Amino acid sequence: MGRRGGPGPTADSLHLGLQDFTNRFQLRDMPRDAACQCGQLVIRCSGEPAGISLCHCLDCQRRTGSVFGVAAFFAKEKVTIAKGSSTQFRRGSDSGFDITFHFCCVCGSTIWWEPERLASMVGVAVGAFADPDFPAPKQATWDKRQHRWLHLPDEMASHPQSPVRTAPQE
Ligand SMILES: [Zn+2]
Ligand SMILES: [Zn+2]
Repeated sequence: MGRRGGPGPTADSLHLGLQDFTNRFQLRDMPRDAACQCGQLVIRCSGEPAGISLCHCLDCQRRTGSVFGVAAFFAKEKVTIAKGSSTQFRRGSDSGFDITFHFCCVCGSTIWWEPERLASMVGVAVGAFADPDFPAPKQATWDKRQHRWLHLPDEMASHPQSPVRTAPQE
């Protein structure tokens, strides 16, 4: 299982493995930046997310233009605007609570949102971290809207629509 498909572990591949491990370990203590596609709007999130959730709902599909959205929830005090300015859009949700979305006024990428239902939390668009090593979602919601071709890992909990909990409790 050599990372580079070589014949076996060499001093070089062992070193790469160690470096990889060190990088991942250090990431946990380092803040992560989430940025829009043009780069003028950046937020900084410290610590690990309190929860990560994938959502198949049609609102998330329309918001992202993709077939699902993935949110990392951080406590509000762990998130700061590093640079740029945003515009907001507020809408209702099927939980009965509004959500306010913040997006780049230049390129339109939504970077974070404030769910009224979880007033102490900020949802951050996981794609905005542009980090394939970002931790995986623990659960998926609204799986009745899941695109038919999409198969998620068996160990990921799923809910047919609004789950009992979409994010960590306050
Ligand atoms: Zn932008
Ligand atoms: Zn959704």
